[in-house]
Amino acid sequence: MSKLLIVGTVAFDAIETPFGKTDKILGGAATYIGLSASNFNVDSAIVSVVGEDFPQEHLDMLAARNIDISGIEIVEGGKTFFWSGKYHNDMNSRDTLVTELNVLADFNPVVPENYKDSEIVMLGNLHPGVQMSVINQMTEKPKLIVLDTMNFWMDCAWDDLLAVIKKVDVITINDEEARQLSGEYSLVKAAQKIHKMGPEYVVIKKGEHGALIFNDGNIFFAPALPLEEVFDPTGAGDTFAGGFSGYIAKHEDISFESMKNAIIYGSNLASFCVEKFGTQRMESLTKEEIIERLKQFKQLTQFEIEVN
Ligand code: AMP
Repeated sequence: MSKLLIVGTVAFDAIETPFGKTDKILGGAATYIGLSASNFNVDSAIVSVVGEDFPQEHLDMLAARNIDISGIEIVEGGKTFFWSGKYHNDMNSRDTLVTELNVLADFNPVVPENYKDSEIVMLGNLHPGVQMSVINQMTEKPKLIVLDTMNFWMDCAWDDLLAVIKKVDVITINDEEARQLSGEYSLVKAAQKIHKMGPEYVVIKKGEHGALIFNDGNIFFAPALPLEEVFDPTGAGDTFAGGFSGYIAKHEDISFESMKNAIIYGSNLASFCVEKFGTQRMESLTKEEIIERLKQFKQLTQFEIEVN
């Protein structure tokens, strides 16, 4: 089994959806990635930063899932990154109401010594300069570097973002971000342009419409499971990335065939994430539930048809 190094925010979120509203709850890209990847029982570690206001119980919860938290720095007297968002009625689009970087503003990531040789590196959504610093600390060249990002960094750290994109093997972004990054409306053309920026594999997430993976002329599509009710889409993209990287770390196979399964697992895990507010659903998820839903995924997509 490969070691999985995760970098990203560990945060407080306040979320508003048509179903309700939360006060500050546990959130952050690395939190969702770590929770999702922990379903594969891989040897993983999170590199992040929180303030003194961050409850120990959240860190204990991550550690209890066998995630190494020694790379989560706690800044004395500092305040944890805070994000607040409000979803529209379609639940696909949202407005960011508040982004308070707090301790993230001066974050200097330090990769724990025993994770500097991790085979799989999952760069969750963070300042691209921080993502680059993590790559530069690796003593062995990772087998696979996966990067997730968002429009926020395209707007405020474009050059740094292009520099880190050049260094990664896989990029996972949503459809709107792929269009912004490439300047192309067609996702096929967008993927072609993004390939040229560096990543050999381009994964485009389309929310409730599933995800596509592009590589060297090959395309594969994983649907999202049609759900009766989506409660809170926050973290779905990160959960997808955690499922993707966790699957690859577990199976130690970075072929396109393996990545097809990895995006199915990513979609599967993301379908649970949206069923409750915040991390609640991911914290209670069982292996049996994951397997049951994988069967539903198979039924949804398998068909017999004669092609002649
Ligand atoms: P997702 O819904 O997958 O896009 O991820 C939502 C998570 O991203 C939330 O838990 C936030 O704490 C975190 N987040 C929001 N904005 C940023 C940002 N600018 N940088 C890093 N993480 C962010």
